[in-house]
Amino acid sequence: MPIIVGLRRQPLHLVMALVFVAGLLVATIAATATSARADGCYTWTRTLSQGASGEDVRQLQIRVAGYPGYGQHLSIDGQYGPHTTAAVRDFQAAYGLSADGVAGPQTFNKLYQLQDDDCTPIHFTYSEMDDGCGGSGFDGGALSESATRANALRTMWELEALRHALGDQPLHISSAFRSYPCNSSVGGASNSQHLYGTAADLTGAHSLCTMAAQARHHGFGGIFGPGYPGHDDHTHVDIRTSNAWSAPSCGI
Ligand SMILES: [Zn+2]
Repeated sequence: MPIIVGLRRQPLHLVMALVFVAGLLVATIAATATSARADGCYTWTRTLSQGASGEDVRQLQIRVAGYPGYGQHLSIDGQYGPHTTAAVRDFQAAYGLSADGVAGPQTFNKLYQLQDDDCTPIHFTYSEMDDGCGGSGFDGGALSESATRANALRTMWELEALRHALGDQPLHISSAFRSYPCNSSVGGASNSQHLYGTAADLTGAHSLCTMAAQARHHGFGGIFGPGYPGHDDHTHVDIRTSNAWSAPSCGI
């Protein structure tokens, strides 16, 4: 070790201290390179790749659900199959990581950067998604409060992917989850996706057509925008898993 050369005439305890400090430095660098840090929301403890299964895979799938490929929808089933591999690869590419489809420390650290301690992506909050008529919470809709909340979380991760793909400009949510009374008061469809926590009406820095077109790449089965009745002032997206897209003024 070069650090010791030239120190032969120094007192032994000083040499030993320097060696000790150098050793700590090497150990610290090694730890940084091989393991991801703990996170306030969720911490992965193993590298995940195709064939893996479990809750850690399911947690990963929620966060890469916005990268299923054009017109596709990722199953949140805890099974790391070829579709999860492809989604992880697209997520990695979107953030400039080496795109191998294997979720290791580099991928997890990026996810930790992108999530708040309540597991929402950093640019979206539950309070943007909850009762759209000025109330709060996820009760009074078509599903249990916890199921609605889980849908809202997945919706936000898909929105984060859409936001990133559009250059990280803000997306504004004008309406998301609605309780039945709220949905009735705004004239929503009786079976509206807004009752399930799966939908968001968007305005923002982009044209409505730009958002509608890009949303097709990020897992949104429902897309309604300009030219579709009642949608000339916002683009509606939802995470249903069969595609129903209509924005005639945008060529969609
Ligand atoms: Zn809507």
